[in-house]
Amino acid sequence: MNRPLVAILSGAGVSTDSGIPDYRGPKGLWRQDPEAEKLVTYEYYMADREIRRRAWQMRRESGALGAEPNAAHRAVAELERSGVPVRVLTQNVDGLHQLAGMPDRKVLELHGTARSFVCTGCHARGPMEDALARVDAGEDDPACVTCGGILKPATVMFGEHLDPVVLGQAAAIAKACQVFIAVGTSLQVHPAAGLVGVAADHGARLVIVNAEPTPYDERANEVVREPIGTALPRLLTELTAKSD
Ligand code: ZN
Repeated sequence: MNRPLVAILSGAGVSTDSGIPDYRGPKGLWRQDPEAEKLVTYEYYMADREIRRRAWQMRRESGALGAEPNAAHRAVAELERSGVPVRVLTQNVDGLHQLAGMPDRKVLELHGTARSFVCTGCHARGPMEDALARVDAGEDDPACVTCGGILKPATVMFGEHLDPVVLGQAAAIAKACQVFIAVGTSLQVHPAAGLVGVAADHGARLVIVNAEPTPYDERANEVVREPIGTALPRLLTELTAKSD
């Protein structure tokens, strides 16, 4: 039989069990602290070396690169290994879906990744560890070794546009999937909210797993309020059983 394509849209709530707080959501830490928000806002970051110096210290001290995948990430990877076609559309920049075993090509990172740096001049990329090692060694604002340009994480900062190619791929998956699971996201900001609408408009079964109500709950076939760490493994096990 044809196995249904499952799209999983994951937000900050998926990674909180891994010790990564919600930074950028509507009620996220950055939004509540204007000084912190400047560190992740493109215009301020590019204009002010002191902002960059503080941003590099923040990245160095956050420990986010050391976070481990949790039960939710593992359940998604397990579903993929079971043979069900799965695509992850994630708002998270922590790379934990891939660390849990999801193949890179099956994860679309809507907001980029904090595991790489990118040069704002020549677009060269490299592992974030390499840039942080330079900060540890005393460079407070490491510049691109190729062109001398300003380096930033390969994430979409406030004030930057999402990658239209990634967004297009995400929309195509939302249209094509038979099951769309939105998990750990408030669905109050685009593109996440838009993708849910696209999936529902194209006939996908819509499942929402979130502690708080979302604007799309009324359109969902199933709304789950229980903690993600138990809800998602259960839901995905049911999907595996159904497709056997
Ligand atoms: Zn460069």
